[in-house]
Amino acid sequence: MKTVHTITEARQLLDDARASGQRVGLVPTMGFLHDGHASLMRAAASACDVVISTIFVNPLQFAEGEDLEDYPRDLARDQAICAEAGVTLLLVPSVEEMYPTPIVTEVAVPPLANVLDGISRPTHFGGVATVVSKLFNIAGPCHAYFGEKDWQQLQIVTRMALDLSAPVTVVGCPIVREPDGLAMSSRNVYLTGEYRTAATVLSRALRRGVDLVASGQTDAAGVVGAMEELFHAEPLADLDYAAAVDASTLQPVDQISENVRLLVAAQLGPARLIDNTDAHRPNSLP
Ligand code: AMP
Repeated sequence: MKTVHTITEARQLLDDARASGQRVGLVPTMGFLHDGHASLMRAAASACDVVISTIFVNPLQFAEGEDLEDYPRDLARDQAICAEAGVTLLLVPSVEEMYPTPIVTEVAVPPLANVLDGISRPTHFGGVATVVSKLFNIAGPCHAYFGEKDWQQLQIVTRMALDLSAPVTVVGCPIVREPDGLAMSSRNVYLTGEYRTAATVLSRALRRGVDLVASGQTDAAGVVGAMEELFHAEPLADLDYAAAVDASTLQPVDQISENVRLLVAAQLGPARLIDNTDAHRPNSLP
């Protein structure tokens, strides 16, 4: 695996690979990697000849007072995880490399970005859409792998690629969890002691919702209410939202039909956690 720090080097290597008929897979990350990230890299490696992963803690997607400065970083460990998972090219650009001049262009997907997480984090998805469109322009024609863990982000990136005719096929990959159900996240290192134990409330609430749907409950308000109850019984969790939405438009639904996603977000002490599931197919939920 080769590590590079400039856009020019990465672009050249990928252009050369495509010129010789190789397929390119892209896995954007913010580093401090775990098995959720590695699962995306393995999926890319199984379908593509060249896998570029990027590690960039993108200042644009952090608001004032969020954890930009404290975001965990460990490049040597990340390089080992990438190499093991089949990454062939790792791009680790500096902030100056990505934003040499103050950025004045906005990439925005308002109908998908102004709901759910976008209500508490109004500038977040603009920063995500902007950096991902830069990464798509740097990587060129490719398949790009994103986790369902960030369901709203996955819908935004998919729609952005479609609307802007990016030469990129966005591929969503299933959520990887700890054995007790907690979705893996770089931010889980903030969860100490009792907060780590309490953090299973997110996956437990989703499991409650899925079980109700499986037992025939179709009223979305009933399902959401039952998920909220679990949070109210967990004093260490401060619920931001529990929601049942159309999986693609992210608009709230009244009835749980096909293509409905259940999503939750909560603050547990120092960590803001998110999780979600298909309302009918719980996949990795314990
Ligand atoms: P991040 O480093 O948090 O920006 O995440 C980089 C990519 O990894 C995003 O596409 C995430 O959705 C994905 N990802 C993060 N955690 C998980 C997980 N537990 N399971 C699957 N994908 C994940």
